[in-house]
Amino acid sequence: MKITILGSGTSQGVPVIGCQCAVCTSDNPRDQRLRSSILVEHGNTAIVVDAGPDFRQQMLRAGLRRLDAILISHTHKDHIAGLDDVRSFNYLMRQPMKVFASANDQKDIRKEFSYAFSDNPYPGVPEFDLQLLKDEPFRIGDIEVQPFLVMHHRLPVFAFRFSDLAYITDVSYIPPAAYKHLKGLKVLIIDALRKEKHISHFSLSEAIETARKIGAGQTWFTHVSHLMGKSAEVELLLPSGMKMAYDGLVIEL
Ligand SMILES: [Zn+2]
Ligand SMILES: [Zn+2]
Repeated sequence: MKITILGSGTSQGVPVIGCQCAVCTSDNPRDQRLRSSILVEHGNTAIVVDAGPDFRQQMLRAGLRRLDAILISHTHKDHIAGLDDVRSFNYLMRQPMKVFASANDQKDIRKEFSYAFSDNPYPGVPEFDLQLLKDEPFRIGDIEVQPFLVMHHRLPVFAFRFSDLAYITDVSYIPPAAYKHLKGLKVLIIDALRKEKHISHFSLSEAIETARKIGAGQTWFTHVSHLMGKSAEVELLLPSGMKMAYDGLVIEL
């Protein structure tokens, strides 16, 4: 199984428009972050988690011509705003895009992209095949997916386990029931927004504490804001086995 970090940034992305801070003016590619998303490839199957505003650019960068499904963690704009661009895959694959989302998230998607769900849509609208996402394991082609719920302040958000890797974006609390899915992990990719506390995301110290508790072989921090500081400097503060994720990182399992 191959996992690619397509984006490791937050709602604004990094650099932030017009910002002159050390991170936003850094020429280190590891300080330049598109909105958070991962690509999971195994056998003949390719799926992504979330399709934020940078989805098109991320698909071009990955050189993908085939995508079997999109899993939606939650419907904040940095995770769904790019769904309109599935039309390219509709054209390439001659089929609607399977989008797995909770019942509530499906309501949001129908509202946000209402033109794609009208009775008489104009030609060329994106075509979605909405599938119900529950906290039960299922299979998409060659990939086994184990979704489970974590909390993003008061909002339940889906996290995902694929083989020995777990991806937890946008989280401020992991309920006890989720820990059964976090045993024996080789790799954990988890939200660490910035150093200061935040109401709906783990801060760096909370993310480190949680990563220690989970005890994956390797942990990567994602959904990183420019307020975190330069990646190379933050890495000096991290315990062994923990690193800052970056766009383009490839993990083979
Ligand atoms: Zn969010
Ligand atoms: Zn987010």
